[in-house]
Amino acid sequence: MESPFIEQALDLLDRELRDRLLEVLPAGPTHADLFSQRMHYTYNLPVQADQEHCARALTVLDAYLRQRIRLHYAPAPNACDDEYGRFRSDGVMWVRPGAPVRMLQTVAHEMGHMFFYRTGIPHEALSGEQHEFIAESVSYCVLRALGVDTLAHSTAYLTPNCLNGRFPPGQFREVIVSIVQSILRLFRLSDLKGIA
Ligand SMILES: [Zn+2]
Repeated sequence: MESPFIEQALDLLDRELRDRLLEVLPAGPTHADLFSQRMHYTYNLPVQADQEHCARALTVLDAYLRQRIRLHYAPAPNACDDEYGRFRSDGVMWVRPGAPVRMLQTVAHEMGHMFFYRTGIPHEALSGEQHEFIAESVSYCVLRALGVDTLAHSTAYLTPNCLNGRFPPGQFREVIVSIVQSILRLFRLSDLKGIA
């Protein structure tokens, strides 16, 4: 039912990524350049968001996750300062504490990794960059459904993954849509049901 919305969100993300790739490719950016841009976009610019709304969304996801995995609101073991979350395939997730919108971005991203295991696609079939592409695209769509626009952040995160993984934007759409649908379904029984 929400599929057209997700498709529209992914169209926006693809277009933004293609524009950005056109912009950066002739300049021959290094991975380090792009990575630092990503950090700039992701963590130094404020994201316009209603923090209380984000906190309510987090509560819904927290209740779901606690029944299924071990969830730690702490940096992952040996995490560097710019690692905001981690999901381990044996069912452990770490989320660095912070503003609700940041934590929501992190939880949605890590749930993208977590739900990938349900698709039946072997994890090793995809590269690390491709896994990151799926997880961040999921996070972008989920936050957009919640009314938070992370387009600049997500694009900045995804550009180096497309470049280094040597794949164009627009991949894995079916997988991304089905994961986003699963996550949005969790809001349907909550007081956030209007969004999904
Ligand atoms: Zn990730």
